[in-house]
Amino acid sequence: MAVTRELFDGEILYRQGDPADCAWLIERGAIELTSQQGRRTVHHGVFGPGELIGELGMLEGAPRSVTATARGDTVLLAIDRDQFHERLENSDPIVRTLVGSLRRRARHLLAHLPEDAPPPAEDLPAEHPGERVGLDKIRLEALLREALHHGTLEVRYQPIYDLRTARVSKYEALVRWQLPERGVVSPAEFIKLAEETSLIVPVGEYVLDRVLEVLRGLRAAGEDALPSIAVNLSARQLVEPGMARHIVQRVDRAGLPPGVLKLEVTESRMLDYAQVAAVMAHCRAHGIPFALDDFGTGYSNLTHLHKLEFEYVKVDQAFARHMFDSERAMAIVRAIVAMAHGLRAEVIMEGVETREQLAQLRALGVRFAQGYLVGQAQPAEAVLSGEAARFSDADALV
Ligand code: C2E
Ligand code: MG
Ligand code: MG
Repeated sequence: MAVTRELFDGEILYRQGDPADCAWLIERGAIELTSQQGRRTVHHGVFGPGELIGELGMLEGAPRSVTATARGDTVLLAIDRDQFHERLENSDPIVRTLVGSLRRRARHLLAHLPEDAPPPAEDLPAEHPGERVGLDKIRLEALLREALHHGTLEVRYQPIYDLRTARVSKYEALVRWQLPERGVVSPAEFIKLAEETSLIVPVGEYVLDRVLEVLRGLRAAGEDALPSIAVNLSARQLVEPGMARHIVQRVDRAGLPPGVLKLEVTESRMLDYAQVAAVMAHCRAHGIPFALDDFGTGYSNLTHLHKLEFEYVKVDQAFARHMFDSERAMAIVRAIVAMAHGLRAEVIMEGVETREQLAQLRALGVRFAQGYLVGQAQPAEAVLSGEAARFSDADALV
């Protein structure tokens, strides 16, 4: 189903009695709701931008109780029924109980209206400021669905420099979302949103597909030493039923050598270690190594390193940033490097922005560096042309 719908003045969005398979968020213009009571037309009001219509019918799965007509040129976003139900199912049990009770009450009221009374519109405008936040999320989620549908998410590749071979030998795939009216939406924002529902699954599949395309492209161009490309996965994605199988199947089908696709595991508050370990073992058996992302901050902690096996530990960029102004940060980096090596993992330092940092990392025995010094995240073409791997370090050979 198309997510955005444009209507001209007087065009009908839905009619009384139509099946209610989605709700709508008005983005521009206005919608008038009316119903037919015998010969009488009852007006239920005109709704404008930022207002949600049709949500009760959608929740109930009952036919539309009103007809919705555009007043002026109007743009709407469709709110997927499954999206709502999934959120509701995952919500606090008390919220679920309240919504259920309100739905039953609304159904009872509608069933017991006198014959000649106008039925209340199924829709109420959302005026409470607290609901704005919810509407913004609903809007962003609908637009993200649309972006996935049209393939307009972009994947960029940030180079990772190998201090031992003095070459860019790896990339990290970072997803970008450009919205016409909002500019670039940070993955930090929309990945979190996508993770709240199973929408994260198609996002992950999309990124994986782009990365495999690039790797296949490099191989087709006769590249003999393929770089490895890392895809970020949250723990939620990793344990999503079918996800690991999907990844392994795609990689096997692409016929790529082992190790060229790498997975970076990000924030993972509620890890079920046994389950994650099983998924990781399955992927590893198919030649997919793992990196623990953002180590040292947030939820990326020692228990992960204790319970799970990683080929790489990525040290959070906060440590590179403070390495020179804080002896404590330097001591922590030194300790992380020793610990990672003790676990037979290589260290990738994130957020490397200066030559001084790079030199210091070399002195500390860190193998890989990633950051603006080596390069920003770049389009696939720059990886395919070799442009993204240009970085060279004068100190490398001395
Ligand atoms: P991350 O995996 O830790 O990615 C590194 C982030 O640091 C990226 O931000 C990158 O642009 C930024 N960065 C790299 N070098 C430097 C530097 O030298 N200085 C500074 N200040 N920043 C640097 P970005 O692209 O905004 O990504 C943010 C986070 O979003 C990522 O953190 C990752 O957790 C998540 N993310 C990105 N793409 C995906 C994806 O496809 N799937 C999932 N699940 N998460 C993703
Ligand atoms: Mg990462
Ligand atoms: Mg990171």
